[in-house]
Amino acid sequence: MRLILLGPPGAGKGTQAQRLVEKYGIVQLSTGDMLRAAVAAGTPVGIQAREIMARGELVPDAVVVAIIADRIEQPDARKGFILDGFPRTEAQAEALGKLLHQKGLDLDAVIELKVDESILLHRVERRVAEMTARGEAVRADDNAESLKKRLDAYRAQTAPLVHFYAGKGMLRTVDGMEPIDDVTSAIGRILAEAAFRPKAAGSAAKRGQAAAKTKSGAKAKSKAKLASKTKKAAKKAPKKAVKKVTRKGVSKTAKKTPKKVSKKKPAPRGKSKSRRAGKKVRRARKARK
Ligand code: AMP
Repeated sequence: MRLILLGPPGAGKGTQAQRLVEKYGIVQLSTGDMLRAAVAAGTPVGIQAREIMARGELVPDAVVVAIIADRIEQPDARKGFILDGFPRTEAQAEALGKLLHQKGLDLDAVIELKVDESILLHRVERRVAEMTARGEAVRADDNAESLKKRLDAYRAQTAPLVHFYAGKGMLRTVDGMEPIDDVTSAIGRILAEAAFRPKAAGSAAKRGQAAAKTKSGAKAKSKAKLASKTKKAAKKAPKKAVKKVTRKGVSKTAKKTPKKVSKKKPAPRGKSKSRRAGKKVRRARKARK
């Protein structure tokens, strides 16, 4: 199973992704988490991303696409993955499409978590409080100023992906304002539906081809059925022309006329011509004697 969770910061993508990981045994691929790990490790990518992330802006497309391309190659991603926070721009979505196409893979669903922006600051504040209570380091971008920038970036660059995937017939929207468990159930229903969809590996175009194949196959089958029915019917039907057997042997063909059922009543026994002729002969013999 491969899916994308779309939604603004604080919509609950991370929470839902973790539940899906437990339920389906697939991996969560969060570009935000990967970038934070790179920042913490001080890798070249981390050094490049650090300031950008702190400001609440987007890291260049090429950087995140390279991270994802590398990550989906890993063995644990073979069974499936949930993309959380990626793609975030149309260029990233196009790059992801190409990557998957090259591998002959397909997305099962793109799920948008729809929320009122008014609650996002409250959710982020709650997350900060929870992380602080657990003794975890608070994210550098989890503050009102950065959140505003992240929301601006979402509206300008990520929200258009809703239309991008809707246009491909892949988008499903879930009410992210509902309680967490209800959101999980709604996502579960979408995924259950997706699991029953005929999966022609590749693209919608391939699905179309498969459908056409099935249609032409059915056509050919019904044609063959019709032909064999006609053959059988021809075997059963009376032959119109049959060979006529004459004294001279088998002669030319003649039309076989169905036996006529005579409507005449058979003549009474005593009055038959042959019996009367017999009587005449016997009488003549007697007279001669
Ligand atoms: P997140 O944890 O998804 O909220 O991401 C935190 C930050 O990481 C974002 O504000 C961006 O600076 C950066 N980031 C994460 N994912 C991406 C992405 N797909 N494209 C660009 N920047 C990203």
